[in-house]
Formats: sequence, structure tokens, C-alpha cells
Amino acid sequence: MVDAREIERAAALQGERTVSSFIKRCFAIALKQGASDIHFQPVRDGLLIRLRTHGIMADLVQLPVSDESTVINYIKTLADMDVNERRKPTDGRFFYEHEGDSFDIRVSTTPVYERGGREDGLCRQRVVLRILDHRSIEIPLSELGLLPHCQEMLGRALYKRSGLILCTGPVGSGKTTLLYAMMRSIASSALNLLVVGDPPEYELDGVSQGAVSKACDFAAFVKSFLRQDPDVLMVGEIRGEDTANVVTDAAIMGHLILSSLHTKSSSIVPYRLNRLGVDSALISEGLNLVVNQRLVRQLCPDCRIRQDKQTPASWVELEEIQRGAVAVGASYGQTDTTIECYSPGGTRDGQPCGRCKGSGFIGRIGVFEVLDASKIADVLRTSIDQPSLVMEAALQRDAIWPLAADAMAKVFDGIITLDDAKAICIR
Ligand SMILES: [Zn+2]
Repeated sequence: MVDAREIERAAALQGERTVSSFIKRCFAIALKQGASDIHFQPVRDGLLIRLRTHGIMADLVQLPVSDESTVINYIKTLADMDVNERRKPTDGRFFYEHEGDSFDIRVSTTPVYERGGREDGLCRQRVVLRILDHRSIEIPLSELGLLPHCQEMLGRALYKRSGLILCTGPVGSGKTTLLYAMMRSIASSALNLLVVGDPPEYELDGVSQGAVSKACDFAAFVKSFLRQDPDVLMVGEIRGEDTANVVTDAAIMGHLILSSLHTKSSSIVPYRLNRLGVDSALISEGLNLVVNQRLVRQLCPDCRIRQDKQTPASWVELEEIQRGAVAVGASYGQTDTTIECYSPGGTRDGQPCGRCKGSGFIGRIGVFEVLDASKIADVLRTSIDQPSLVMEAALQRDAIWPLAADAMAKVFDGIITLDDAKAICIR
């Protein structure tokens, strides 16, 4: 959340004399608080600038209508985009230097219908800047928040050097960071590693990366890279039938394929691949592991507050959470009638906490669901179109570590709040 001091500084933003110094100040605030996105949203009486930090949106400042086109055109110019194109969605990128670090900024614009502004209606543009911080791919696999037994499951799948490993989760859930962390964990001069992205989000030493374009889509790139003798191939995202089929084939041929797929849970992945036209027999043979991920605010350990034991009525309202709590509760000394958890503090000895600067949180941490698909290959062959049966078999055979269990383990450890755990299990 943007704290009071930042809001004060944001108010001062409006006093900036030039558009370049205004944008510079916005970036300084966004980067200082670790924002992942900056939104420029037309509203009835101006242009609202908002930041997403640790997954939460907060208003930064609102500019008058008279400044709207100057600010948007300036950003589009930085990203080498056509300032006159206002009626179609466009995208671009630029690099931004700040305190010795370089940030890759992805820009997307969408025409929106919003009254007000100089040009009424469709000519107004909503602009979102996504800040890619290369430091996030330098986080080793061991520091993403995977519990030891989940790391072991992942390590075993990577060690096989063949088969398909898929990361899933909503937009902004850390799939790319996890994919790159996996690539880095196996990077070695003894292996030929290739990456295909749209475009690749980060640079990786010693790894060739191909950028998808109109002339060469994901499937065409994968086919071409497969002729270049890869040991490990990372494909940014499976979007269509072609890519789904090509990566599954490649996994069966003995390559290790890492990719991502936009799904809500891991048990639905085999079904999604099947719906994308991949044969169930090939999925059961090729699909090795699925990691489903969310990013959740991490409590500041210096100022978090241990709550009184809660009665079940206040937390057992969600079946998943209850199952998750039961799965891990005993090993944390929790009973079936009460649990212990933590809430954000923000102060120490009456002063704002120095570590989290009074916010109560220190960045975000991954909450994971890991499915070992190789343990349920027979079920995938016969019942792939019934995700509930797949889930049942996975639970029975201990092939899945459910999201709710991971979330509750992190609640009991005081790493995340119970409310955040509930929120990701509902969605
Ligand atoms: Zn703190």
C-alpha cells in the first residue's frame, strides 16, 4: 500500500515542471516501494495514476485532464510507439535506469470509453507499464517459498531431463520467475538450453533465446529449436493447439520441456491440454509435473502480531482451507478446534517498523500446489476429461501437495495472513 509519506510526495508530483521530471518521480516512488505495475487510467475528470505493489492496487496521484495526452505521449515516445495510434491496442518497451539498475518496462495501451478528457469517448487511452525487474530471476529456486518436500518433487522432475514440467496460475503469479529459476538451477555448460518467449522476459547467460513474431510463432520456433539438438527447452507459454502438441511431442521424444499454461489449478492441466487437441495417451506419457502458483504478501517477521487462538467458526468457512489445515495442522501442533496465526503489525515500540517501513509486509512469497502427474498416468489415460477424478486419484496416491495445504503451512509459520490464504483458495 502507498503510505502517507508517499501520498504527500505524490501530491508534490503535480508541482513538477516538466513531464520528464514528473515521470521520473513516479518511477522513483514505484521502484522504491517495489511496485510491479504502473497504471495510467482515464477517469471522468482526469488521468488517475495507480501502482500495483505486492499484488494490491493503490492510487498514487490524479492529474488534470489538460496533462493527460502530454503524459501518455511521453511514455509512448519512450517506448518508440506511434503516438497517433489511439484507436487500436498497442504495445512497446523501453529500458529505464534507476540508481544503477536497469529495468525493462513493458508498455501496453488500450483505447477505452470514458467520458471527460479533451477527446470524449473512444479516443482516450488506458496505459499500463509492467516493470520487469531482472533481480527477480536471480532468486534461486530455494528462496521462492517452496517447502522442502515440494523442492524435492521439483528436483526429481528436473533431474529426469525429459518430460513436460508446467507452471500454472493467473497473470502475475510468478510463473516466469519460477521458470527462469528452474532454468538457472540446471544451467550447465554440459547442456544445450534454449528459450522461446513472446518476447523472452529476461536475459540468461549462455542460453539462446528466440523471440516470437508474426513471421515465427511459438510452434514454429519450437519446431526450429528442436532441430538444434536441445537438452532443455523453455517455452514461455502454451497458448494454442500447435504449441500444446509440439511441446508434448518433444517431451515424449526425450527433451526436458519447461512451459506455462494459464489455469486455475494443477489438476485441470491434463484436461486443458486434452482440450487443446493433445491425445490423452501422449499427455499421460509426456506430462511429468505441474506447479500451480500464487504470489501472496509476506508478513514482516519483525513486527507481525501473534493473534489469539481463533475459534473454528471464524476460519473453517472454506472447505479447502479446512482440508489444508487438517493436512498440515498436526505437524504444526494445531488442534482441530483452535489455530494460531499472525496479522500485520507495522509498528515497533510505537514507531513505524524499520524493516517494512510501517507496511507490515516485506514483498511477496509463492504459495504452491505441486502435482506429480507421473504417479497418475493410468488415470490420465482413462479419465482425463474428468478433473475431479484426476484430483481424487492424486490425493489418494499422495501425488499432489494441494494449494490450501501449502497456504495453511505458511499461515501456521507466520509467513502469510489467514485472510490472504483464504483469498487465494477462493479464487
Ligand atoms: Zn515490519
